[in-house]
Amino acid sequence: MGKGHDDCTTTSHGNIDLVEAAVGSVGSTNLFEKTDHSTMLIKRGIAVSPGTAIGQVLVLGTETFRIPSQFVSVDAVDTEIARFHSAVDAVCREIGENEQIASDHLGKQYGAIFAAHQQLIRDPDLIEKIEFLIRDNCYAPEFAVSKAIRHYARMFQSLGNRYMAERVSDLFDLEKRMLRQLLGQSREELANLSHPVIILAKNLTPSETAALDKRLVLGFATEAGGRTSHTAILAGALEIPAVVGIGRFMADVAGGETVIIDGDSGEIIIDPSEETLKDYRRRFREQQTEAARQETFADVEPITKDNVRVSVMGNIEFPTEVEHCVSRGADGIGLYRTEFLYLQTDVEPDEQTHLDAYRAVLREAGGQPVIIRTLDLGVDKVPPSLTRGYPEQAAETHSALGLRSIRLSLQHLPLFKTQLRALLRASVDGDVRIMFPLISTLMEFRKARMIFADVMEDLEEEGVDFRRDIPLGMMVETPSAALLAEEFAREVDFFSIGTNDLIQYTLAVDRAETLVSSLYTSGDPAVLRLIDRIIKAAVAADIPVSVCGQMASDPDYVPLLIGMGLRQVSVTPHAIGQVKAAIRRVSVEQAEAIATHVLSLETARDVESYLRNVRRRQESAA
Ligand code: PEP
Ligand code: MG
Repeated sequence: MGKGHDDCTTTSHGNIDLVEAAVGSVGSTNLFEKTDHSTMLIKRGIAVSPGTAIGQVLVLGTETFRIPSQFVSVDAVDTEIARFHSAVDAVCREIGENEQIASDHLGKQYGAIFAAHQQLIRDPDLIEKIEFLIRDNCYAPEFAVSKAIRHYARMFQSLGNRYMAERVSDLFDLEKRMLRQLLGQSREELANLSHPVIILAKNLTPSETAALDKRLVLGFATEAGGRTSHTAILAGALEIPAVVGIGRFMADVAGGETVIIDGDSGEIIIDPSEETLKDYRRRFREQQTEAARQETFADVEPITKDNVRVSVMGNIEFPTEVEHCVSRGADGIGLYRTEFLYLQTDVEPDEQTHLDAYRAVLREAGGQPVIIRTLDLGVDKVPPSLTRGYPEQAAETHSALGLRSIRLSLQHLPLFKTQLRALLRASVDGDVRIMFPLISTLMEFRKARMIFADVMEDLEEEGVDFRRDIPLGMMVETPSAALLAEEFAREVDFFSIGTNDLIQYTLAVDRAETLVSSLYTSGDPAVLRLIDRIIKAAVAADIPVSVCGQMASDPDYVPLLIGMGLRQVSVTPHAIGQVKAAIRRVSVEQAEAIATHVLSLETARDVESYLRNVRRRQESAA
């Protein structure tokens, strides 16, 4: 801490002088550097939604602050420094009040925590640094405060001392208080952005992602998240370039900086140099040209080299996405994730809301088949309307092994029946097919089918029109369902293989967890043998089978799946063109040879590198 503060509480909350001396030349970031482009910082994560985005950072913490501008005019510097000092005084008063309350109610030792916060924000070195940033760099006080505090947070983290690292949260708490004072009413929520930004956040929930305004959110990057997390899937659906699972980087950004999101390589570049910016702007233009070329795949038939037709359908979360599939020449919708009806609103959708959404999708699909999946709520997709008043259910519904998906629908019958009624009513408007998610036992499927039959009876009694012959299928996405595929194939009308969950449950790797993301792979031989088994069971029983998990959107895996006997895939809309191209590069005979070889391999690494090499060879031969 600065001069004159040598009591133990102060030391325990981090002495900035000492910290700076101890770390010496911490990081490449020199806080006093004027040309901030030399502070270019590259972070690497998992690329989940392709494309390049270049824009200004909006940092989303637990509270959403938007720093409106990075700079102030030279003339305004003195006024801005005065504004900064008023904010420090206000924050100190606020902390003082908290200290009093904590001391009175909990005891002096708790009050001391706040006293230490006050000393931290009054630290002469910190104040001097912030003043320097405002005066010499013409930084806005909000930006200077964030930059300086995050500089110290980084130093605290880098000491390798757990105690000091834990003090980082005190620094962030101070930053939040200061920003609240400085920004006052101008604090901006994600829901009302006024101009285009790139969002950097610890994590984004699927509901937050679903609510992003595509015109104003150019891209996003998060510390947490995995390849097939629903946030990642949504980014693809919204066609917003995104990188997840970067690991810690929030201490390196204040908000307002320029950032590049490279949704193809998985890199994010904070404060890029002029040269890097130029390079990425060029790439951005090239991508637009490539996107236009991909659109020309709309009329291309997905047939193998020996003329076998493979059906390529699209996955959607919102009715508006049907158009993205139709324009790319999809054969219909192979997966409509209806739970997003719940995630975009705080109010539980009623029958009419369901019906309107289904009718819109069917209308846009223009007579092509639409496979509508019943609600797959739970884990990261828990709308407030579901657990309101049932706190004991909240933990259960957030677990991947708990009350999610069809289990949740079967325990919330009014919710399930509302959806089934709407689906049946919509059935007269197009080629509706229904499937149940996360079926893990035969009894579960039978129960769901029975409830479906009950709803039909109700509608019949009410004299409501619906189709009786709607195909009823299931997602195969648990190892138990895969192992009983022959038995299931006798009872269901079709299978749709959900590789996203199948991989998670087979390998015991959470699909949204960053720290185990390298263990989550489509190429694992155990996963591939289960998929092969499911396809063979469906072919033997003569029922349609498709893969709608992200694996089918990866061109490397397309020949393998065809070789296993698959003739239908449902993929993320932006991947339709590249999947069609992959189908056209292979013959069934070649695909079968690929599948035979892959199924003899013992490790995911061998599978991945073999499939990658096959694709490269095919691409260069094409
Ligand atoms: C899957 O699990 O592969 C799937 C398609 O469903 P979701 O990603 O919605 O869980
Ligand atoms: Mg799933």
